[in-house]
Amino acid sequence: MKIYEKAPAKINLMLDVLHKRSDGYHEVEMIMTMVDLADRLEMSELPRDTIIISSQVGYIPLDEKNLAFKAAKLIKERYHVTKGVYIHLDKKIPVAAGLAGGSSDAAATLRGLNRLWGLNIPYEELMELGAELGSDVPFCISGGTALATGRGEILTEIASPPQCWVVLAKLPINVSTADVYGRLRSTEIKQHPSAKSMIEAIESKSFHNVCGELGNVLEEVTLQMYPEVAHLKETMQKLGADGVLMSGSGPTVFGLVSKESKVPRIYNGLRGFCKEVYAVRLLSSSLDLKKHV
Ligand code: ATP
Repeated sequence: MKIYEKAPAKINLMLDVLHKRSDGYHEVEMIMTMVDLADRLEMSELPRDTIIISSQVGYIPLDEKNLAFKAAKLIKERYHVTKGVYIHLDKKIPVAAGLAGGSSDAAATLRGLNRLWGLNIPYEELMELGAELGSDVPFCISGGTALATGRGEILTEIASPPQCWVVLAKLPINVSTADVYGRLRSTEIKQHPSAKSMIEAIESKSFHNVCGELGNVLEEVTLQMYPEVAHLKETMQKLGADGVLMSGSGPTVFGLVSKESKVPRIYNGLRGFCKEVYAVRLLSSSLDLKKHV
């Protein structure tokens, strides 16, 4: 038997860090939503008790360090599954880009193996398993749009933002999320974005206000380390994107665009100096992910 799962990328419409906790994690407030740029996972049963990962890209680990491997191992151990699985990752999401590609693969593996092996693990339990794998994994299991608090694992579903185009651009630099958080001085953050105002903007379906409330405190760190990311932001703005922000710890920058007619100019302008550019739509609802759980 063979099954397929889609693992979409996430963007942060706002990301705030409140303080560093005694357990070393940062207390965050983030509003996350998914975009239609996705890895595709193919999972098939193996008669032997083993986990095998493959991918068409050569620059991610395919051993026990791969997040899909970790997810398969966790579900096998916790539910005493003695069957094996072969997982092929068709990677489309840029790696180490602030788009939660690895977390989304882990989430898709949990959803997929729950189906493949007929485990009937309830949604809440799957979310708890996800939290053991990484702070972004629970959101990647549920999809949709959510306010994430705690270390990012406590989720409150919110309304979908007004539909628009999302142009994503990633420069050829790899940013380590741990490094960016390590360099952040949470007491010295100059401007905190507001989750409350962003939720109000989303609920009132005001695209203009959503663009106005975009904010990410990690930009202070990443833009200083890589001034070319700041330049990319400015270029996207100049080319006509309505709202521009860095996603997660970067380096991917995204631009929200309401008018389809503006997209080719922005896309082509960025392609002039940046190889990885994507123009996609928001994935507006969580239901298409949840129905597989
Ligand atoms: P986040 O936004 O959650 O910080 P990210 O988009 O910045 O994530 P990922 O693409 O998840 O980063 O990759 C982070 C690291 O995880 C990479 O260095 C990569 O080698 C490793 N990794 C492990 N498994 C995967 C996977 N399935 N896909 C991509 N990267 C993976």
